Amino acid sequence: MSNETKAKVAIAGGGLLGRLLAWRLCQLDVDITLFEAGNLSESKGGACWTAAGMISPLSELVHSNKHIYSLGLKSLELWSEWVRQLEEQSGQDVEYRRAGSVLVAHGKDKSELLQFLRELQGKLGESARGQLEPLDSNTLAKLEPSLHGFEQGLYLRGEADINNHRLLPALLRVLHRGAVTLREHSKVNCEAGYISVNSEREQFDCVIDCRGLGAKGQIEGLRGVRGEVMVVESREVVLQRPVRLLHPRYKLYAVPRSDGRTVIGATEIESEDQSPISVRSSMELSSALYSLNPAFAEARIVETRVNCRPATMDNMPYIHSEDGLIRVNGLYRHGYLLAPAVVEQVENQVAQQLLQVA
Ligand SMILES: Cc1cc2nc3c(=O)[nH]c(=O)nc-3n(C[C@H](O)[C@H](O)[C@H](O)COP(=O)(O)OP(=O)(O)OC[C@H]3O[C@@H](n4cnc5c(N)ncnc54)[C@H](O)[C@@H]3O)c2cc1C
Repeated sequence: MSNETKAKVAIAGGGLLGRLLAWRLCQLDVDITLFEAGNLSESKGGACWTAAGMISPLSELVHSNKHIYSLGLKSLELWSEWVRQLEEQSGQDVEYRRAGSVLVAHGKDKSELLQFLRELQGKLGESARGQLEPLDSNTLAKLEPSLHGFEQGLYLRGEADINNHRLLPALLRVLHRGAVTLREHSKVNCEAGYISVNSEREQFDCVIDCRGLGAKGQIEGLRGVRGEVMVVESREVVLQRPVRLLHPRYKLYAVPRSDGRTVIGATEIESEDQSPISVRSSMELSSALYSLNPAFAEARIVETRVNCRPATMDNMPYIHSEDGLIRVNGLYRHGYLLAPAVVEQVENQVAQQLLQVA
């Protein structure tokens, strides 16, 4: 089919959803244009750059519901295959690891761990068996030798994580090579069949709005939830997988990367303030980290990141489809957990819309 007769698809927003969608839609014989307000190669703008990249349906189930859990399981299935394809196409390792995750609590907070386990068992029923493994100090020490002074923990089998600072550039690389037109520094507006940049209006067969918080005003109730993370570097403490600390006040996760750095986070504050991390948050994250192993005291803080998670009123993903326009948003704290499953749904809706215009 020649370019003139190919269907034209516009994707607004080059964050996690926008990049993944552009990549997956390359498989259809369509002409794709990706519009991004900022610069696609710089780690600024989207929440996708700030995230820790955990893909943890079990850990998140306590604060969410079975729908998020099922989408998360579907995404885990897709990630394995998509990562294989992406690494092959981009020639880049995106550090996808499926080594489960570990939850710990200090002795005095033992009830937090028990409560967490009970809630998960209650929500999962029989299927909890085989996915959740209570750990004593010996089994914990074997799994995570760098944790210090914990008598008990919980192993969540099958959870994964991905290095977003490798994934996002790898996606960009394949988009550069593929048949996608990339339009950076293009802050756009979306309506059915049209993208507007400044005063120009361009027509498309299908417009997909993936602008995250940039779509505020077009999606009722869309809000930002501030999150702060720190990146630390330690020569002494090496974690094997994501570790979460349960504490009545200071929740913490620590996600190790292959370069010796660990992403720790994250605060969750009902605010759209994107100013730098507060002293309070950095103290709370640091002291929770120190309590995993006092040797973390000598770690160096190499970076801090702040951004807002795009969330709907009920914190559930939002997919709206009408002729010529699909809006996808509200991935909240579950972008990496849900993106493949959500993208697959959107791919089907795009295919249906394009069939109608063919
Ligand atoms: C601190 C923190 C930690 C997190 N940790 C995790 C985690 O461990 N696991 C997990 O699953 N999720 C995590 N998340 C959530 C995840 O990052 C988000 O759910 C995900 O990034 C949402 O993807 P998105 O593509 O919808 O939006 P974004 O990633 O925000 O991308 C939106 C893109 O649209 C662009 N844009 C905005 N307006 C316009 C416009 N008008 N025109 C053109 N482009 C525009 C932006 O520049 C941006 O590039 C975390 C988030 C935060 C903030």
